[in-house]
Formats: sequence, C-alpha cells, structure tokens
Amino acid sequence: MSQEFDLVVLGGGIGGYVAAIRATQLGMSVAIVEKDKMGGTCLHRGCIPSKALLRSAEVFATIKESEKYGVRTGSVELDFGLVQQRKRSITDQLHKGVEYLMNKGKIKIYQGFGRVMGPSIFSPQAGAVRIETADGEQEIIVPRFLLIATGSRPRLLPGLNIDGIHIMTSDEALEMEQLPASMIIVGGGVIGIEWASLLSDFGVDVTVIEYGDRILPTEDADISKELTRILKKRKVKIVTNAKVMSESAHTAEGQVSVQAEVNGGMQTFTAEKMLLSVGRQANVENLGIEATEINVEKGQIVVNATYQTAEPHIYAVGDVIGGIQLAHVAAHEGILAVEHMNNHLIEPLDPTKVSKCTYSRPEVASVGLSETEAKQQGYSVKTGKFSFKSLGKALVFGENDGFVKLVVDEKTNDVLGVHMIGPHVTEMISEGALARVLDATPWEIAHTIHPHPTLSEAFAEAALDVEGLAIHS
Ligand SMILES: Cc1cc2nc3c(=O)[nH]c(=O)nc-3n(C[C@H](O)[C@H](O)[C@H](O)COP(=O)(O)OP(=O)(O)OC[C@H]3O[C@@H](n4cnc5c(N)ncnc54)[C@H](O)[C@@H]3O)c2cc1C
Repeated sequence: MSQEFDLVVLGGGIGGYVAAIRATQLGMSVAIVEKDKMGGTCLHRGCIPSKALLRSAEVFATIKESEKYGVRTGSVELDFGLVQQRKRSITDQLHKGVEYLMNKGKIKIYQGFGRVMGPSIFSPQAGAVRIETADGEQEIIVPRFLLIATGSRPRLLPGLNIDGIHIMTSDEALEMEQLPASMIIVGGGVIGIEWASLLSDFGVDVTVIEYGDRILPTEDADISKELTRILKKRKVKIVTNAKVMSESAHTAEGQVSVQAEVNGGMQTFTAEKMLLSVGRQANVENLGIEATEINVEKGQIVVNATYQTAEPHIYAVGDVIGGIQLAHVAAHEGILAVEHMNNHLIEPLDPTKVSKCTYSRPEVASVGLSETEAKQQGYSVKTGKFSFKSLGKALVFGENDGFVKLVVDEKTNDVLGVHMIGPHVTEMISEGALARVLDATPWEIAHTIHPHPTLSEAFAEAALDVEGLAIHS
C-alpha cells in the first residue's frame, strides 16, 4: 500500500521546504523528496556559503587597511583553510536548523531521487512520485497535490570541460581549499561579480570576461558604470563585449588559457583557474514529466500566475520555473502555491516589487524598473540621486563610494525603481521595496524622518533630489 499525503514536494531547497512548512500550518500532511541535502542550492552551494566567503574577504580587506581607522595590526595573514571551515560551520548550523523545522512540522523526508508518474494503478491522475534511494530501493507515494521545486544547476558552455580543478563552476569554486594566484571569470552577472569582489579582496588577480557591453547587465546602467569604476580601481580587469570561445579553453602547466573575440579581434586570456558563471539551468531532466501534461518551454516548467502546471493539481515554483531565480522569490512562490491549493486568494508575485542584491564590495541592490526600462515602457521619468560621498555615516564607516538613485513617474510621482550601490545597501533596499508596495511618492519617502547619522539618509536625500531639493548636495 503506497503512503498518501495532502502534499508531496519534489526538492527540499528553499522553495520546497518553505512551501512544506506553510502547508503544515494550513493543516496539510506533507512529505518532501530530496536527493541530496535539505536546504538545496541556497544553503549548500549558493547564498549562504558565498556570503560567508564574501564576509571573510571583507574582513581581510578591512584589516589590511586598518590604519585608515587608526588601528595598527602588524602583518595580516590569511588562512583560507579556516575561512572554509567557518563557511562550513555556518552551513552545517543552518542545515541542522532546517532539519529541526522539518521535524517540528512533522514533515516526512524521503531521501532519494523522485520521479513524477503518469496515471497508473497507484493513482488515476498523474502526480504519484516514485522514489529511488541511493541503495536502489524504490517506493511510491501518492499526493493530493504535488509541488515541483527541483531548482537549477550551473549553465555550461558547449565544448568546455569542467574539470573542477582548473575550470570550475561556482559549485566547485566554493569548495576550493587554496586560493589561486589568478582567476578568469567568464560572465559578469551577479555570481561572477560576487566572486570577482571576494577574490580580489583576498588578493587574487581577477579578470572578468563579459559577453554584454557592461557587467551586471540587468541593473541600471549607472550602477554598472559605478561598479566597473570601483572594481577597476581595485585592479580587477573587466573585459566587455567579449565572446569566449569555450572550445578553445585548455590547461597546460597549471595554467588555463582561453580565447575570446573582443570587439571583433581575438584575444587570449591566461590564469591559474577559470570560473564559469553564465547563468543557471533549470532541473527538468529525468523527472518523468513527459508522462504528464506538464509543459516545458526553454528548459523551464511552464506555470500560470498561481503556479499551476497544465495538470492543475501539480504546481511548480522556484528556479525550475525560471523568472527571477532568487531564494526569496522561490520561498515566496512556494507560500503562494500552497495557499492557492488551500483556496486562499493570492496576489500574484509582481517582479517589479522584488529586491535584487549583489553582495560585492560595494554592494548593489535594486527594486523595480531601471531608467532605461521605464523609458522603454513609455514612462516619462524624472530621477533623483544622492552620493554616499556627501553622507556623514558613510565617511564614518570608511566606505563612501556609490549612490542611491530613484526612478520616478513624472505624471503620477510613483516610484518606479530604486537603485543602490554602496555600503550595506542590501539591507537598505527593503525600504525601496516597501515604497513600491505602498506606492509611495518621493515626498512621502523624504518626509519619513530618517535617523542621523545613518546610511539610509541617502534614500531620503535621493527622494528630495527628484525635485532638486536634496539638503546635503
Ligand atoms: C553561487 C550562488 C549564489 C547565490 N546567492 C544568492 C543570494 O545571495 N540570494 C538569493 O536570493 N539567491 C541566491 N542564489 C540563488 C538561489 O540559490 C536560488 O534561487 C534558490 O536556491 C532556488 O531555490 P529552489 O528551491 O528553487 O531550488 P534549489 O535550492 O536548487 O533546490 C532544489 C532541490 O531539489 C533537489 N532535487 C532536484 N531534483 C530532484 C529530484 N528529482 N528528486 C529529489 N530531489 C531533487 C536538489 O537536490 C535541491 O536540493 C545563489 C545561487 C548561486 C549558485
């Protein structure tokens, strides 16, 4: 007799396990099928380990410049083994936390690879899950609702062999036990730029090769320009409009070489290691979905605004459905999907209200439309900008590169977008997201009294600047 559940979640990443917890709050019996470790990419190969390394890199860079703060330290030594140990102890602790939450919610965890079944003797409708454990055992469980949250993996380039030692994706890079002297980073998106920042802070010679005409191409153009300036000041080499010839990559005598077509000419780049960070690919293979009505387009599961696939009792959320592939998006989608299963009225996720962060030094954060996007969508826009250079707290903090920029609809005064680069802006951006949710005007932002001295004053000053009324510029 196969075990039955109200909900089976395929994939125990942040989209899956958050959905499972919300489902138990709503009284559902829940099982998760996970082939690896509970917590998924974010906890084990993404958000958390990368931020742990970034924090160590930031501490190292700050201590090297400690005299600037009047603190003499003598020589500073980096122990990368300890850095990795710290990273692991953080992820271990959080992993235990997720397991505790699963126990607390009485969520049954099936360890193994799950495949969706079509209609069968186990269930007249598609959606039963066949679980295969590492030792070859098989079990079938039958849900009323199924949620697919199988996530994503690094996108590869044709002809490029990831050997995990010289040529890596972020998965292998996170496990390096020693830092290389030099690194080529192919791809100047969020992951590539976070790695460029942390490696350069650790003293590695970094070259970023980006296909587009600027790094962080989905951010406002002013932000990309400022980040390029700051990273170049830190001796990071940034090559744009460059098409890497992936099949040209080869390793010899401990060095990786690769050719790229840069502005029409061919160039060769050489370094000790190469990191490929050219996006993520949804995990849709071998899931058995071809036995169902579920559609896959451009390698991603197709869902409607309430996260239902073409089989209305089978939902999908997170990286596997594409869209904005971020942890907080996956988690929010998981909650919405489960609430919809329980007949709650849900408000579809609005991508222009989602905060996006890059945890480089300095940090980058944004919500809503860039100036170019707003113009392309037919808005007539006005902007406000305020530099951290003019802010007391940024000077006290010791990092005053960057700015806050607001993109505002000239007709309605609605804030269409908020764009930030500078210290701790990934913490500050939620105020911009709240402004978007509440349809706040720059006047309302400016008249929210911001404490002094704080970095958040830059947001109020940028709002004032929309009408040319900033006080400190
Ligand atoms: C280097 C890096 C840094 C990142 N940093 C951030 C960040 O700072 N902030 C942020 O918001 N996002 C960040 N992300 C993105 C974030 O990690 C993802 O958006 C998020 O993990 C997606 O969650 P998910 O639940 O959809 O999928 P995942 O976290 O990928 O989880 C999917 C789970 O499903 C399991 N699975 C897959 N197929 C099967 C199967 N057939 N049977 C059983 N189990 C299966 C997998 O083992 C995995 O555990 C980062 C990503 C990377 C790679």
